[in-house]
Amino acid sequence: MKAYRHVLQRKNKEDFFIPDFTATGILDVDFARLKKNGVRHILVDLDLTLRKKRIYSLDPEIKAFLLEAVKTFDFKSLSIASNNMTPLRRYANPLNANIFQPYISGLILVRKPNALFYQRILNRLKASGHECVMIGDKLRGDVYGGNMAGMQTVLVEPRGNDYWYDRILRTRHRELKTMQKYFPDYEA
Ligand SMILES: [Mg+2]
Repeated sequence: MKAYRHVLQRKNKEDFFIPDFTATGILDVDFARLKKNGVRHILVDLDLTLRKKRIYSLDPEIKAFLLEAVKTFDFKSLSIASNNMTPLRRYANPLNANIFQPYISGLILVRKPNALFYQRILNRLKASGHECVMIGDKLRGDVYGGNMAGMQTVLVEPRGNDYWYDRILRTRHRELKTMQKYFPDYEA
């Protein structure tokens, strides 16, 4: 896990797209360091962070790694925060994790990176932002949303292949450009 936090003073909107840390994957996340930073609650994205496309169970190595991290560093909670609308218990149950998914409020679907989505998580966990870390593979949904909620953030490289819509939208290309604007040497 690589730190970017120390070089960043977030002022403009775009600054909030930059994570505090980057990691090559979920298994590269340094939970000892996050604990030292005051993190008590872990939020993890599901798609392409915990699981690859078309894989409908949790990777045993990832499961063991996360359970060990929670135990070792005495984190208060582990949650899956996902925009995926399908039932997620098959991923959350083996981790004893909470599930946070999109919900309807009025006429809108509240999902990442909506501030309401993150605020609801903080309310449920009775936590303040800086006590939480949001770990995910997307600069917009995961990193921007988490940063705006005052959370610590980790951008991980996606597991496996992207979804078709992200290929069409050239999400990764735009994310790379954003990161390189701040850190010219950055490579995904
Ligand atoms: Mg994802």
